[in-house]
Parts: sequence; structure tokens; C-alpha cells
Amino acid sequence: MATAAFTTPKLKPYPVIPLVQVGATSHLKPFIASEAIQKNLGFPGELADDWQAKAIAKMGELLGKYRSLRVYMDACVHCGACSDKCHYFLGTEDPKNMPVARQDLMRQVYRRYFTFAGKHFPKLVGAKDLTREVLDDWYSYYHQCSECRRCSVFCPYGIDTAEVTMAAREIMDSIGMGQKYSNEIIGKVHRIGNNLGIPGPALEDTLLGLEEDTKDETGLDVRFPLDVKGAEVLLVTPSADFFSEPHVDSLIGYAKVFHAAGVSWTLSTMASEAGNFGMFIGNYEQLRKIALRIREAALELGVKRIVVGECGHAWRVAYSFWNTLVGIGAGGKDPFAIELQNQLDHRYKQPMHICEFTHDLIVRGALRFDKEKNDHRIITFHDSCNVARASRMGDFAGGQFTIPRDIIKAVANNFHDMAPETIHESTFCCGGGGGLLTDDLLELRVKGALPRMEALKNVVDEHGVNFMATICAICKAQFTKVLPQYGFDMSMVGGVHQLVSKAIRLGDK
Ligand code: SF4
Ligand code: SF4
Repeated sequence: MATAAFTTPKLKPYPVIPLVQVGATSHLKPFIASEAIQKNLGFPGELADDWQAKAIAKMGELLGKYRSLRVYMDACVHCGACSDKCHYFLGTEDPKNMPVARQDLMRQVYRRYFTFAGKHFPKLVGAKDLTREVLDDWYSYYHQCSECRRCSVFCPYGIDTAEVTMAAREIMDSIGMGQKYSNEIIGKVHRIGNNLGIPGPALEDTLLGLEEDTKDETGLDVRFPLDVKGAEVLLVTPSADFFSEPHVDSLIGYAKVFHAAGVSWTLSTMASEAGNFGMFIGNYEQLRKIALRIREAALELGVKRIVVGECGHAWRVAYSFWNTLVGIGAGGKDPFAIELQNQLDHRYKQPMHICEFTHDLIVRGALRFDKEKNDHRIITFHDSCNVARASRMGDFAGGQFTIPRDIIKAVANNFHDMAPETIHESTFCCGGGGGLLTDDLLELRVKGALPRMEALKNVVDEHGVNFMATICAICKAQFTKVLPQYGFDMSMVGGVHQLVSKAIRLGDK
């Protein structure tokens, strides 16, 4: 099932809708989760004899629970407006990667079992039995969708393919056909506390090392505190920030911002992961269980504020789900949620994105920068899907687009946006989101990055751009891997707080 050799697509100066190649990526399927990985999350270990009946029952349950799913199954008029909007279709040319075709994989089964016409005249309405062949197609093509929601922006009915993908993955997990990469990571978070499986002592060592490095760089005692009770802010950040390049440079940036602002803060061993792959597999129980670690840490440490680091889907989960899931923000009716509500300082947004935190300080004149320290960089910004299309920042529409850009412009002199149809709510996915950042899907990741690489190439050629900033751990990891495939330097990608880190003046108060 691993990816065979493939050819990286050629960059074109302008977007070209490809001629379709039927079955071009039907061979791409991520590794299936082992029995142990599945059982660890409470899912069946493998397909049982009655998998088909169980899948249909699960589908019925989801259609009953989520009215949006039933609307998405019924509302599509096959207008085709979404068909050329998916980066995976543009990069792979496989017609089943057109969003409407991806939805139809579920829609044809829905019609067969949940509509009158499909039950009695299946051929007339394009209804299909859920056979093993159909299930294999589901496994393949619902793991060729990064749940980026770009297609839904262009659908006149607002049909959200990402929700359909999540439902399909949830159904497949419930019958014992889960994806190894996501489910193994979720198990690690439950066991150890983070996606990378970094135990507490290793995390402590790393943070001490960062304090020494930052002292060497600045001559100052910039702290990277861990598990400090009574700190003002709990920072929850992707675990990649602790160990991976270029992620760690943003972590150093956050620490410098807290230091310069004189705000006490802490990281937490218990909540050492902002990412929440429960969303990728469409499973609210897993989503909640992972998020509960953050509530537990916040209560234990007695913090007043919760701030989230640079991670796209983590911010979506924090912004859109934490309130009703666990009571961070508003919502949540159980005693622990109420206790946390009483503990947090509601003069501040709860939760708050690190970009909102830094931006607010910049607006209030509380931070000073030497912008020329970033003069060797000509910068562009890649909007991450989950921030752009599934969340917001600040108290105004579009804050998720302007706030990161305003920070960049406050800390650097050279900035150029990519083409308007490839940024903001129309941003193209990096190609590795939604639980697809695994090497068994490398071909898909490289091909799916094509539209973003083409937009980047244009600003490289026109403006000499040599740095693409982003606020997502997955985007950073994905671009580090795929940039060289398109002839770019892997060090071209980095975080917004990496730029902040370079320019911030630490002596001033
Ligand atoms: S959600 Fe994104 S990846 Fe999925 S079909 Fe739509 S555009 Fe493609
Ligand atoms: S744009 Fe919407 S209605 Fe049109 S084909 Fe796509 S999903 Fe269906």
C-alpha cells in the first residue's frame, strides 16, 4: 500500500484545469491501523463478517445526529462549481478527487439504504450497495481529502465535503477499518500527552536547553516554564514546537513575547499537545477526551488565561469546539467546566490565539522591534485552511487574515501576498492536512501541494520572495518535505513568531 515512485507535477505559470485521468490515484491508501491501535481507541480491531450492516447502522446514526450530513446528501445539484476547486484533483487529475465525486461515494450508498427511490429503483437514481469494492474506494478517497473546506466556499449550497469525509472516516473506524497514522497518534496522546510521544522528563530537558540557547543568543534569562502553578497564562502548543525545525523557532518567539510583556506563563506536561486528531477522524468522543487534558491542566495549574500556539486545526478545535466540548470559553455544564469558567479571567478572550496575544501587545505599543533584522527576508504568508475557513481571530470579520499579516508587517519590511484567488478564504491547502501527513501518502502530499507551489513560484519570480510564513505545525512539516520536490529550499518555510523572535527588542519594557 505504500507509495510507489511518482513524478512531481510541473509548475505552470497560471492554473490549468487538468484533463481527467480515471483511477490515477486509486492505488493511494494509507496503512490500515493494526488491531492493537484500533482497540486502544475502543474501535473494533478488524472488519467483522457483519461489517456492512454495522456500517449502514452507523451511517443511519450519523444522519440522525447531524442534520447537516443529511442535507449534504440531499442538496447537491451536481452543478460542478466545486469540481476544479480541490488541490488534490488539480494535482492528481483523478476525477474521484473532485469534491462532488468524493461526496458521491457516500451519496450513492445513502440513496440505496436511506431513500425510497434508492431502495426500490437503485439504478435509476445512481444508488449502490455498500460492497467491499465500494468500501475500498471510500478508504482510498476519503483519505485523499484534507478536510480543508476550500470546495465548500465555492458551493452555492454550502455543502461541506470535509464533514462528509469526517463521517466516512467515523463509519470506517466503527467497523474496524481505521487509519494507522491518525489513530496511532491519538493513542499516544492518551498514553503520553502529545502527538510525538515526548515524555515529561524529555520535555523538561528540551525546555532547559532552549533557555540556554536563548541566553547565548540574547544574554537574557528568557524562561520556558513547565508546570508552574499560579502562572497567568497556560500556553498550549503543538508538540512539534518542542522538537521540530522550523517549529521550535516560533516557540522561542512566544517565549520572548511573554518575556518582553512581563506576563507569567507556563507550558504543561499534561497538555503538551494543542493538536487534536479526534477532529480528523470525525470522532467527538476522541475529540473530547483529548481536549479534556487541557481543561485538567488549566484547573490543576490555576491559570487565568489559555493561549494557543501556531497550529491550524488546533485553533479550529479550540475556537469552535472547546466551549461546548469541555467548557473552555463559554458552554460546558458539568462541575469542572463551571469551576474553570469561574477560574478564568473573562476580561480576555478564552481561548486566545498567540497571534491575537502578540498583535494586541503590538497595537498597545507594548512591544518594540528592529524590523531590519528581517531585511534578508522577502516574505509571503500562507493562510492555513482551518484558521482561514473554520475559525476567526480578533473581534472583526477577517481578523484571521489580517492579524498574522499585521504582525509580519510590524516585524519585517518586505511582504508580498500571493495571488488573491489563492489566499484568505480561497487559500489552497498545503497538501498534508486532515491526517494525511504520513509518508505512506507522500505522492498525494506532493501532488496536492501543486496549486500552492504554483502561487508561491509566482511571487518568487515577481518579487523575489524567499520566505513563506505560516501559523500551522502541519503546514510547516508538509512544506519542509515538499518544497524541495518543486525546486525550492526547505528552509523557505517558517512561523510568524519565528519572524517575531528575530526582530523583537527584549531590553525595552
Ligand atoms: S475539503 Fe478540501 S481536500 Fe476535501 S474535497 Fe474539498 S477541497 Fe478537496
Ligand atoms: S458545488 Fe455544491 S451543489 Fe455543485 S456539484 Fe459541488 S457540492 Fe454539488
